[in-house]
Amino acid sequence: MTGGQPVMRREAAMQGAVEATADPVVKQRFVMGNEAIARGAVESGVRVVAGYPGTPASEILTSYIAYPDVYVEWSTNETVALELVQGASLCNQRSMAVMKHNGTNTVTDFLMHMNFTGVRGGLVLISADDPGGNSSQNEEDTRVLTHTYAHLPVFDPSSPSEAKDMVRTAYELSESTELCFVLRPVMRICHSRTLVDFEPVLVIPRPADFVNDRTRYVMSAVVEKSAGGQMRPVVRHRWLNQKQHELEELVEASPFNTIEAGEGRIGLVGCGIGYAYCKEAEEITGHKFPVLKLCTLPLPREKVLAFADSVDTLIVFEETEPVVERLLKEIFYDAGKNVKVLGRSGFLPAEGELSDRTVLQAIATLDPSYEQYIPQPFPLSVSVPMRTRTQCVGCSHRSLLHALKLVARKTKGVVTGDIGCYDAGAFPPMDLQSTIYCMGASIPMGSGIVQSGFDKPVFAIIGDSTFFHSGVPGLINAVHNESKLVVIVADNGTTAMTGFQSHPGSAENVRGAGARSISIEKIAEALNVPVQTVNPYDISETIDALNQALKHPGVSVVIASAPCYLLAKGHGETLFEARKIIIDPDQCNGCRVCIDYFGCPSIQFDGAKASIDPLTCVSCMLCIDVCKRGAIA
Ligand code: SF4
Ligand code: SF4
Ligand code: SF4
Repeated sequence: MTGGQPVMRREAAMQGAVEATADPVVKQRFVMGNEAIARGAVESGVRVVAGYPGTPASEILTSYIAYPDVYVEWSTNETVALELVQGASLCNQRSMAVMKHNGTNTVTDFLMHMNFTGVRGGLVLISADDPGGNSSQNEEDTRVLTHTYAHLPVFDPSSPSEAKDMVRTAYELSESTELCFVLRPVMRICHSRTLVDFEPVLVIPRPADFVNDRTRYVMSAVVEKSAGGQMRPVVRHRWLNQKQHELEELVEASPFNTIEAGEGRIGLVGCGIGYAYCKEAEEITGHKFPVLKLCTLPLPREKVLAFADSVDTLIVFEETEPVVERLLKEIFYDAGKNVKVLGRSGFLPAEGELSDRTVLQAIATLDPSYEQYIPQPFPLSVSVPMRTRTQCVGCSHRSLLHALKLVARKTKGVVTGDIGCYDAGAFPPMDLQSTIYCMGASIPMGSGIVQSGFDKPVFAIIGDSTFFHSGVPGLINAVHNESKLVVIVADNGTTAMTGFQSHPGSAENVRGAGARSISIEKIAEALNVPVQTVNPYDISETIDALNQALKHPGVSVVIASAPCYLLAKGHGETLFEARKIIIDPDQCNGCRVCIDYFGCPSIQFDGAKASIDPLTCVSCMLCIDVCKRGAIA
């Protein structure tokens, strides 16, 4: 995706750039897609990187730990991260913001201003999608937000190697077009491993200078004299619209969009990972189809029209919305071309992940001779039990949730939930939280239930990282409007669910260096509400604190503070004294409270009695308190 003028500008921008001598030769490494993405940025001379953890994108940011010259941080949330890297871009430094699709939702407001102002130093936004919702609360296609809505160029990689190449190209073009470029890898790209070329690291010796340009970087409803008295938002909107023409020219020449000749009148359009599935289908059938690889937005109109001459029907494979499919229909309609376009708006499944099977099934629908190639589900000779979501053995969230469940059930209260390891409490055997939406929603939703006139207790449970991310505004709102709400902060000192990343409450940063830890207790105290800090491993103490909190007429905060067991274990810390915990079969009456209410995975049931698996039990002793018959010791 290069062209004459942009290349000239790029060369000007790169004057004085040098390749770092420490890593001068091209090497092939077997790496994860996320690592390849980070490497692409390092090879482009990235200077500032910020993000918020979220699967499937988290390892992109932690990959920068290997590069000491890059400033890297876990920001409080994705909006903070994007705003921060734009600050660096305005100082002519190359920067990157890293997030998953839910994070991209939260940055939309800033994005809808940054698209109007443009960038200075190259800025790449990584917006990683999770088709199929393999590790997310929802599935969505952030190409809609970033391209259809914000009109930014998007690259959709079909392999980890291409993701790296795209990042390099994105930096060049971001500077030549002055636009933020978006890379939208899906989970299969982020998490797959392949051989990737590691080329020399680039060092760009540019001073971090700030050039004052208020007509561009002050977005406001002011009259622009230089534009004949038009409002500035209109002037900047026009600038963005004009940029689309520049982008349309660039994508025509892009190596990320290619035409492959083949046999037959059915053409396959592979977008991002969809292209990889098309190639797999070709391998399985041994047939070379006409293939159009489209991995950029906007689309290369001339290339699309040229390809259409060779086919009657196109099937578009893209994750997850029919974005390209609709654009193709628009192009063909405008050009008066009679090509049938099929895709995710009715022909293919409209939700869930694609696969090679999806491609083969789609082809076979049009030509039944391909039915023989559709892989059949693998017959399983063993019956695997369905597993529910739960916490690790020894996790303090289990005892916190158990205590909360006892209080909530007794008072017929409602518990609103948030995103983190504790959200497993919404599933059997706990069945505790009644709502889980997006990050930070627990406290405002709890407030809404209270303000609706609901006359039973309302509890909102939120983790420490989520509290900093987006919980604080909801808490302030609840306090200001005097909601009678018990807010429980499950504080384990880390962002456990996404891989133990640091957050503002941690005493160290992403590189493991010391950082100023922000106290949740002091934030809550500053709001002048009752705050109790408890040890969640002490179930009685936790129940007492929750009951105490219920007596307060307004917001009351309970902070359940204990380290993440798994992280502590990883650091060689011993949280529990080693001892054998057993269930006395003579005392156990098979009531199943320890299983159906508490749910430690180390406790088994043989149909009549409970027993403890000594191989997995970590002797946290929580179940001893749970069994009221005293059968566990
Ligand atoms: S990772 Fe830590 S916080 Fe998460 S379930 Fe395991 S022990 Fe609990
Ligand atoms: S160990 Fe206790 S709680 Fe568990 S089934 Fe037996 S009696 Fe019930
Ligand atoms: S069986 Fe009991 S002591 Fe063992 S890990 Fe589970 S709750 Fe802890």
